[in-house]
Amino acid sequence: MTTDPSTTGQSGPLDPGLYIVATPIGNLGDITVRAMDVLRRSDVIACEDTRVTGKLLKHLGIPARLARYDDHASDAARARLIEQAQHQAVALVSDAGTPLISDPGYRLVREARAAGVAITTIPGACAAIAGLTLAGLPNDRFLFAGFLPVKDKARTDTLTGLAQVEATLIFYETAPRLERSLRAIAEIWPTREVAIARELTKLHEECRRGCASELAEHYAAHPPKGEIVLMIGPPVAEAPGEVDADSLLRAALMDMSPAKAAGTVAKATGLDRAALYARAVELKGA
Ligand code: SAM
Repeated sequence: MTTDPSTTGQSGPLDPGLYIVATPIGNLGDITVRAMDVLRRSDVIACEDTRVTGKLLKHLGIPARLARYDDHASDAARARLIEQAQHQAVALVSDAGTPLISDPGYRLVREARAAGVAITTIPGACAAIAGLTLAGLPNDRFLFAGFLPVKDKARTDTLTGLAQVEATLIFYETAPRLERSLRAIAEIWPTREVAIARELTKLHEECRRGCASELAEHYAAHPPKGEIVLMIGPPVAEAPGEVDADSLLRAALMDMSPAKAAGTVAKATGLDRAALYARAVELKGA
């Protein structure tokens, strides 16, 4: 694939409007031909960080006509961009990936639409979707829920609030918080499948799958670096009597005491807590 903007064969000004342009999430080869064309021909490129976007444009050989924008920009700054998009081509990019997806742009698009501005999207890389395609978790239904909260109670509340959702859950996460989040997930869902997609499209791309406590142990031993998408597979419906209590207990015992493991598995399965505790003690000693 070439990154030479001249190969798009387009020239001249674009129609006025707001162009939502996705950019790569790591590998610069993931810029689309259409994104290059729009960035080259737009009158102004609204971006989160002029240094980050300036670097991308330099790599693409596109002159930078940058204006800083995020959703905390003043109403007046947003109104100016919307007014400009009435008679010029305004491109919106974020530092990486698809604008608006855990990135600025929602208020701009909403207000531009209300003002009757023509809006076009130029789709491309998005870490949530890239992670989902790599994880091998069920993907017929998924729910993207942005960044997991940092504080323990808020994180637990967010997770338990999604307990009934029969879909793969997708979150953005940071490397320093990953282990703690995995431990919180292990407490709530000791047996749901979890996948961690790290450094997507970059040199050290990896994807690991397991139950949350296994992954927590792995990342405790190998502290992760870089950017992360955390995914949790849907709840697995098991008919009463078919529950494999031993594997639930084994998973829970990886980072819980026998009493806590028995309590968690009892809650998840409806099985007798005392019997589970006795079995957990046996398994722990085995
Ligand atoms: N709008 C972007 C998108 O479309 O993916 C996401 C922006 S959000 C501020 C940044 C978060 O996305 C990171 O903290 C990480 O969780 C995730 N992310 C971005 N690039 C990634 C990559 N290459 N690999 C894994 N996760 C990534």
